Amino acid sequence: MQKDTQVFDLINRELDRQRHGIELIASENFTSLQVMQAMGTVPTNKYAEGYPGKRYYGGCEIVDEIENLAIDRLKKVFNCSWANVQPHSGASANAAVFLAVMKPGEKFLGLDLSMGGHLTHGSPANFSGKTYHALHYGVTADGIVDYEQLEAKARAEKPKMIICGASAYSRDWDYQRIRAVADEIGAVVFADIAHPAGLIAKGLLNDPFDHCHIVSSTTHKTLRGPRGGIIMLRHDFENPWGYKDPKGNPRTMSQLLDLAVFPGSQGGPLEHVIAAKAVAFGEILEEGFTAYGQQVIANAQAMAKSLVNRGYNLISGGTDNHLMLIDLRNKNITGKKAQETLDKAHITLNKNAVPFDDKSPFVTSGIRVGVPAITTRGMKESHMETVVAFIDKVLMNADDEQLISGVKQEVKSFMQQFPLYPELG
Ligand SMILES: *Cc1c(COP(=O)(O)O)cnc(C)c1O
Repeated sequence: MQKDTQVFDLINRELDRQRHGIELIASENFTSLQVMQAMGTVPTNKYAEGYPGKRYYGGCEIVDEIENLAIDRLKKVFNCSWANVQPHSGASANAAVFLAVMKPGEKFLGLDLSMGGHLTHGSPANFSGKTYHALHYGVTADGIVDYEQLEAKARAEKPKMIICGASAYSRDWDYQRIRAVADEIGAVVFADIAHPAGLIAKGLLNDPFDHCHIVSSTTHKTLRGPRGGIIMLRHDFENPWGYKDPKGNPRTMSQLLDLAVFPGSQGGPLEHVIAAKAVAFGEILEEGFTAYGQQVIANAQAMAKSLVNRGYNLISGGTDNHLMLIDLRNKNITGKKAQETLDKAHITLNKNAVPFDDKSPFVTSGIRVGVPAITTRGMKESHMETVVAFIDKVLMNADDEQLISGVKQEVKSFMQQFPLYPELG
């Protein structure tokens, strides 16, 4: 068979792009070569609907071992008693949590998308907002989660589920406070830790498992694994809503979640991706991943400081985790223009609404900056100043094509000290 050069040439161009650019998209990272190698393997050929030991197809004895290994390692990573590694993505994991807990039309409470929340936390454009009755809390003028508003809405509306977690929020969460009001009204607390999971795994942020009934995450952000989703419980529990099996026995939360992933919302699991998840969880269990997490936080602090020194306005004034949100209104440039201009200099990030933004979500007043990917490339605190200097130069000269093309060359040569997948030639 001839090699499909059309596709592989494109893949090689993408490798080149990743090597030369400064990757600041807060949700991105670079997996290890082993994680990628595991993904491109033969379990992709295997149908394995069901769960280890309870499959609908023959020949699953080895993929059973793969999936059990992934589950066992993940349980160690987060010190939890039950995990499902089959969700194809973070959104799929969240869809399963909704399906397990909620009936259509029932109320839940989540962080507003325009304040840092995620589409799956009740956006009208998403299944979560279309199928269920979404209520939202926001952040205060200081950019911190408005816990008082959360509590007031919870008491007034009595939602069945409260979601915490975000995609563009730079501060840690008070899970205990959310659990307290949830207990008052009999709601379950669902933490979506898609972004900071890798930092939580190493004890570098508050532990949501102490207080939240259900936890979901992606595997490809700070966890540095393959693209995918996971759902976890530290303690299983009998569902309080009277959901029963056909024999009339009450179902446990883990049973409801397993059923909601398959057959509820997915078909066959991606066992090659689950193999790669197992590799990634193995890497997280190693000592070195703690150093990685600590460096992520140190780099984020250094970058925040450097931005503030240059007059940039950070929402909430700083960061506790791997990302920060910059309000560009005092710099007279929109989020859209900033993203597009930085792209020309091979600095990749995304425009982002800031809390109380007066511009449309397509334009926005802000940008989101994250350091997990550049930390994986090997950058330390001292490099953050250089990166911020590049960003500032581009944003302050956004219409000077020649200067931006000069920065692009500087970025390319700067990135040569941080090799990416040298084994790939
Ligand atoms: C990224 C993210 C998701 C969705 O992950 P996908 O894999 O893109 O579907 C869900 N929730 C939050 C908070 C996220 O940041």
